[in-house]
Parts: sequence; C-alpha cells; structure tokens
Amino acid sequence: MAEALSQQPSWWQTHKFTIARNTVYISIVIALILIPELKIIKVDIAHNESWLFGERRSLIDGLIPVIAALGFFAILVIVINMIQGRLFCGLICPGGWFAEIQEKIKRKIGKHHKLAYIFITFISTIAFAALFFNWVTDLRVFFYYTNPSFIPMWVAFLVAFPIFFWELYIGKRWCRTFCPTGIYQKLTPHFYYYKPALIPPYTTKDCGTCRECLKACPMALDPRKIALMEDTINRPGLSSCIVCGECVDACTDVWAKKGKPPILGFLHEVPVRQV
Ligand code: SF4
Ligand code: SF4
Repeated sequence: MAEALSQQPSWWQTHKFTIARNTVYISIVIALILIPELKIIKVDIAHNESWLFGERRSLIDGLIPVIAALGFFAILVIVINMIQGRLFCGLICPGGWFAEIQEKIKRKIGKHHKLAYIFITFISTIAFAALFFNWVTDLRVFFYYTNPSFIPMWVAFLVAFPIFFWELYIGKRWCRTFCPTGIYQKLTPHFYYYKPALIPPYTTKDCGTCRECLKACPMALDPRKIALMEDTINRPGLSSCIVCGECVDACTDVWAKKGKPPILGFLHEVPVRQV
C-alpha cells in the first residue's frame, strides 16, 4: 500500500499535466496569432499578395510555406500517433483546447443558462475563426465591401462559421466523436508507449467511491481500465486517450490530501491482474 508522503505536494505538483499542457496550448495559440500578424508568414488574398519574414511576395510565394506547414503538421500527427497515440490532441491541437474550455464553461453555466452559453459560444467561434482567417487574408476585408474579396471571404466565413460553432458548442464531444483527425488517429496504426493505468499492486478496490479521474477525463474514459479493455467502436478504450494526464493530476490531488502518492500513473507495462 502507498507509503505516506513526508511532505504534502504543492499545488504545482498536483496539477503538473494541466499546467504543462496549457502552457504548450497557449504558446501555440500565441504563435498562430503572431506569425501572420508580424508577417513572418501570411497570405493576404484581399490584397493579392503574401508576406515572408516581413517581405512582400506574390500570393503563390506565400502559399508554399503555408501548404508546407500543413504538411508538416499532418506528418507530425502520423508520427506521434505511432509512438504515443493521440498526444497531438492532448497537447498541440488548438481546436481541442478551445473545445475543452467550452466544455468547462458548459458544465458551469450551460445547463441553467443556455442562452448565455450560446452567446459565449458565438463569441468564441468568432475568435476561433479569426485565428484561422488571419492566415489567409487581411481581416479588415470583412468591412470593406469595395474589395473584390469581400463577398468570397464572407461566403467562406459563413460556410466555416456553423461548423466551428457546432464544434465549440458540443465541446469535447467533438474530439470524442466527430473530429476527422481524431477518427484518423483511431483507425490508423497507433501505439501508446505510456498508458494511464493503476500502479501495481493497486486495483479499483483501493479507489473506494472516488471516481475523480473519471470526472477529470475530457474523453469520458475510465483511466483505470482503458489500457486493459478491449477497444471497440461502441466501447472506446485506449485509442481514445489523448494522453492529457488530467486523470493522473486528479488522482495525485486525491491522494495528496491523504498524504500519499497517487495510485494512477502513466505506465509502459500494464500487468493484467491489476484492474
Ligand atoms: S482518482 Fe485515483 S483513487 Fe480516485 S478513482 Fe481514480 S484511480 Fe481511483
Ligand atoms: S484517460 Fe487520462 S490521459 Fe487519457 S484522455 Fe482521459 S484523462 Fe487524459
């Protein structure tokens, strides 16, 4: 059984995965804003030009690095998935981060204040869309009806808006069920070098009625069992895990209050007997 800790862990220690992944997510969102804003890479359809490291170029010149960046991210998803599963979703994808924030807002206010939740989702959808449209156009084009790109840009925005709105409105259900990148990662070869699981010799009997890791899991999984479950379409298991570590943080917090180390962690080998 767990040895008592000589010292109570700090808030940082009981939230280390939350802090680490939010730091990465926020850095990525800042980069997504700053790269086009500082004209390091920016395609500007409204002015029929592009920018590379502050230099004005033709539209085509700017498209090449944008396509290369998209290709890089596609390869990154494939490679990460073959080593550590859906880590891309739990650490890098800004869509997943926005969906997670929405999920938290929904839990807090959604049930009782549906209109307020719809309004918040509307605002976050505009912010989310602006983040991406800023890469391909000067955003002021949406207010200048004399610009030839005014109508095409509004058409593109109005097509994208309901998809983004729905994604954010349903929160993490988007990542669990509908996201094409998530579906791709589940269906293609994947491997989890580290898996969330109970640390031997613990079993679910040691948990009592806690279930805090289940409540913390954004993918609605049972982190104690998924590594040993048969993973089917109707019963999602390890292939749905985004390796976010929220379950481990939750367990660390629970056991820290008893002065003990967590019984849930990321394991390479998961012995069959432990659940
Ligand atoms: S948080 Fe820890 S103690 Fe609680 S149910 Fe999960 S594994 Fe068990
Ligand atoms: S099982 Fe744990 S690591 Fe996996 S998605 Fe759920 S909370 Fe994140």
